[in-house]
Amino acid sequence: MPADARGVAAVGVDIGGSGVRAARGGPGGAQGHVARRDLDRRMDLGAVLDAVAGAVGEVGGGARVAVAIPSFAEGGVVLDVPSLPALTGTRLGELVAARTGAARVELVPDLAAAALGEHRLGSGRGVDRFLCVALGTGANAAAVVGGAVVDTAFGCLGDAGHVKVEPEGPNCPCGGRGCLEAVASGFALARDGAALGYPDARAQLAGAAAGDPAAAALVDRAGVALGRAIASWSVLLWPDRVAVAGGLARAGDRLLDPARRELARVGTPYVTARLTVVPAELGASATLAGAALLAAGLD
Ligand SMILES: [Zn+2]
Repeated sequence: MPADARGVAAVGVDIGGSGVRAARGGPGGAQGHVARRDLDRRMDLGAVLDAVAGAVGEVGGGARVAVAIPSFAEGGVVLDVPSLPALTGTRLGELVAARTGAARVELVPDLAAAALGEHRLGSGRGVDRFLCVALGTGANAAAVVGGAVVDTAFGCLGDAGHVKVEPEGPNCPCGGRGCLEAVASGFALARDGAALGYPDARAQLAGAAAGDPAAAALVDRAGVALGRAIASWSVLLWPDRVAVAGGLARAGDRLLDPARRELARVGTPYVTARLTVVPAELGASATLAGAALLAAGLD
């Protein structure tokens, strides 16, 4: 078994909806070869574990393994995983340990792993207090303070995407109302874009980029909502930098400029004047990088 500088092999694993990736972990994140296996939502638990163990084995195995999951975990139990239902309710860390022989397996929400990767290697380099917002199908945020992920609930910053940004706004899938996710997410853009004739959020964003003013207004509204969310999170976390990742981030400054303006308008000046809002840098590789860093840091 190959070993890192401390004499114990570490492996980071990123379980996504369509595949699993694994790489050796070190202080620089994912090192060397990246092993991949396909996954799909019809797989049973045994097939998913075979894929994970196969990828871990291909990079040499590890005594310490960190597994990023497309969900959250509480008390070692994986919560709902819509993209891989076989994982829901399992004690995945123990199962991966048994299948791979790892002495220590840590589960981490993919969002938290991505924040760690961005902090060490991407858009959060060099700052002490970093907030990473992910606007994909849903909306959420994770924070890294002093080099570690802030864990208030579920291994992450709770359900930060449900901060309220439009109190009289749309109902949210969470059961609440006016949440960031209800206004600034793929779900929200698909819902409102359908009324404009767009089949999905990607098409809606393309319409905005092509100059459709109605589509652009939806992106602007999402940006304003993001600015309000950052203003609220910031009084709790005092971030030096906020990075925005996920599919909506492809809108670039069409999303971030209204967010910055709203942050300047409603934010608490002595808190928000010190922070910058930037695009995330690492894309899909942030999650594996973070898992690899986490594995390398496990005792
Ligand atoms: Zn909500």
